[in-house]
Amino acid sequence: MTRENPTGSPGRLTLGAVKASPQSQLRLLELADLDTELARLDHRRRSLPEVAELARLEARSSELKDEIVVTETELGDLSREETRAERDVDQVRTRIDRDRSRLDAGQVSAARELANLQSEIESLRRRQGDLEEVVLELMERREGLVSRRDELAAERDGLGTEIGVLAARRDTAFKEIDEQAGKASEQRGGVVADVPADLLKLYEQIRDARGVGAAMLRAGRCEGCHLNLNQADLNDIRAAAADDVVRCEECRRILIRTAESGL
Ligand SMILES: [Zn+2]
Repeated sequence: MTRENPTGSPGRLTLGAVKASPQSQLRLLELADLDTELARLDHRRRSLPEVAELARLEARSSELKDEIVVTETELGDLSREETRAERDVDQVRTRIDRDRSRLDAGQVSAARELANLQSEIESLRRRQGDLEEVVLELMERREGLVSRRDELAAERDGLGTEIGVLAARRDTAFKEIDEQAGKASEQRGGVVADVPADLLKLYEQIRDARGVGAAMLRAGRCEGCHLNLNQADLNDIRAAAADDVVRCEECRRILIRTAESGL
């Protein structure tokens, strides 16, 4: 792709105030490579599949914890209800026993009183039966909840193991990435020390905006934005002094001239 020069006039190429020897300018290519590598490592660190998977598992784990709390609260309520119902059964049973012993002891002799007592015992037995059914129902519900809670706890424990394995894998990857990044940063420090301050400042400004601050001009093409320079710009670059710092009109990166530039 060739960019049209709208005016066709020469001299529209931006030449800044910064000047630097071709050797210094060449070092910017090393810097650009290292910055590309550092950006790649940073991207890899942030987009590790383990990181996304861990976030998913941890979200599920926290969901499980909440579900377990809800289930255990429900279980507590149910147990109290069950205790109450059992106490009611006991009370009814005690009353039946008392009535029965009065009956057995022959304390009641009047026919009417006897009939009343017998009918009371009968109704108490019905009541006992109803209450025992309630207790049974509560027990069943509680057993259901206990097995639900156990299932949730088992899933939580399994998830905990999975999270541990995944976190270890992520940490191994992080360590490897950090080691590579450490090496690249160290190398970068060495290169930076060789680049004049004003050129470095310009490079860093472009890098902040573009990610990488310099690109090779190869066969008339900017390796930063991959666009071919038009003839007018190429002519300007041919005419520029070796210590002029040339910029790509398209992506604004510093264009580094080499033997491969096609000039
Ligand atoms: Zn460019």
